[in-house]
Amino acid sequence: MNAHDLAGGGGYVLCWLQQALRARDNPVIDAAIRLGNALGLPVLVYHGVREDYPYASDRLHHFILGASRDLAIGCRARGLACVQHVDRAERREKGLVYRLGNDAAAVVLEDQPTFVARWQAESVAARILVPVFAVNAACLVPPAVLGEGIGGRFAFLRRHEPERAGWTRSEDEVAAVAPFDGALPFEPDRLEAMDLDALVAGLQIDHSLPASPVFAAGRAAALAQLARLTADVLPDYAATRNDATKAEGASGLSPYLHFGVIGPREVMQAVAAAAAGTRHKAKFADELLGWREWFHYQARSLAAPEHYDRVAAWARETLAVHAEDARPACESLSALLRGETRDESWNACQRQFLGLGWMHNNLRMYWAKRIIAMTPDPETAWATACYLNDRLSLDGRDPATYGNIAAMFGGTPSDREQRVYGRVSTRGDGSTRGRDGGADWLAQAASQPMPPVTVPADVPREPYLTA
Ligand SMILES: Cc1cc2nc3c(=O)[nH]c(=O)nc-3n(C[C@H](O)[C@H](O)[C@H](O)COP(=O)(O)OP(=O)(O)OC[C@H]3O[C@@H](n4cnc5c(N)ncnc54)[C@H](O)[C@@H]3O)c2cc1C
Repeated sequence: MNAHDLAGGGGYVLCWLQQALRARDNPVIDAAIRLGNALGLPVLVYHGVREDYPYASDRLHHFILGASRDLAIGCRARGLACVQHVDRAERREKGLVYRLGNDAAAVVLEDQPTFVARWQAESVAARILVPVFAVNAACLVPPAVLGEGIGGRFAFLRRHEPERAGWTRSEDEVAAVAPFDGALPFEPDRLEAMDLDALVAGLQIDHSLPASPVFAAGRAAALAQLARLTADVLPDYAATRNDATKAEGASGLSPYLHFGVIGPREVMQAVAAAAAGTRHKAKFADELLGWREWFHYQARSLAAPEHYDRVAAWARETLAVHAEDARPACESLSALLRGETRDESWNACQRQFLGLGWMHNNLRMYWAKRIIAMTPDPETAWATACYLNDRLSLDGRDPATYGNIAAMFGGTPSDREQRVYGRVSTRGDGSTRGRDGGADWLAQAASQPMPPVTVPADVPREPYLTA
């Protein structure tokens, strides 16, 4: 990622993890070990969490720290040193990653295309004095091997599908020369020996958004979801995946995939070994590889995948033409955030984000389309959808977040020109309301009690640029 060469100095190879929070089946760690072994140097794995990244909350910190705790335990079992730092008032460590990096022979970090992982990697690579290598741990097929310039999903699939088999098998993990046991420029936090709830409670972050009551933090919870996928979900996946009234029809893996607690290769190996029909396995592969990895690929080619200008030009134009249309469905930010709008179906969707930290895929489509009518103009609609998704959902701030919202704001142009939407297609709630028991399910979901989340004066416009 920078112009520095391996100069022969440094006491270790620094493996800096931001989102790939797993000790096994982690290509970033494996690459760091190979480089360390080639140089005759140990590896130091480092993970740090700050208080000031956009939307830092009890919900996100709790999930991240649980994953980080298990990362350290897993690294030790692999004979690797892993150190952590939770930045807080009584323990500030300014520029720690630079200090650790400049004592290293090289830094190996994650190739991530969105949110803080991308900006921080770019900023560190530009300023640090040692070579920096980026390795992809988020996708089965690293986007870089597909080459540049693939413009559409079908062209992407033609390139991606033949590559999959070659990346599904993992090579034996390489053993590290020896754990790093040298001096460090800071006192690491030993998360497994700490009360994580008390630690989170003492931080200057958003305490109005509690941890998810259903998505437990850590590696054991990710493996439990994977076991549930292969035993219960996959055998009927193609038939039940679109039914939001049966949340158990979806894998619930997206929070764990977003934070790298589990990787797509491990998931696909389990899917291949599962007792389920080909149709169901193919549908799952289309979601996990065909859609998720397309959005990762797409985000890499965009300077700012989080920005409104990534929405298709024709869609922005037609939405701009209708920007002044009357919007009788407009709602306040408070009603939107708290799921207290006049639209019961929309509230049912939003209350999954707010209450659970996740939303069913089928609901997300209705939810995003409706926001266009519920906000004063298209740019505010985009900012609001990103804000709600990023602040509340454990899987938010992801290439799939912005890629899917962009698809809901664009997609295939409609033949019909409508008020507010122009030629952007609309979507009703029939795919849920029209099911047996759908109306009752929506009414019940829309009346779930919610945490008293704080509401900002305005929707954050560019949290990404000021981070
Ligand atoms: C408006 C909108 C916003 C979305 N925001 C996010 C987001 O912030 N983060 C996120 O990970 N996904 C997002 N998605 C995609 C999808 O809704 C979620 O990945 C899925 O609902 C997660 O639940 P699951 O793990 O049970 O999915 P499953 O149905 O079990 O699918 C398995 C995996 O495939 C991947 N996947 C499934 N559908 C998609 C898709 N449409 N695009 C990309 N990957 C997919 C996910 O990694 C998912 O975990 C969004 C979709 C829409 C329409």
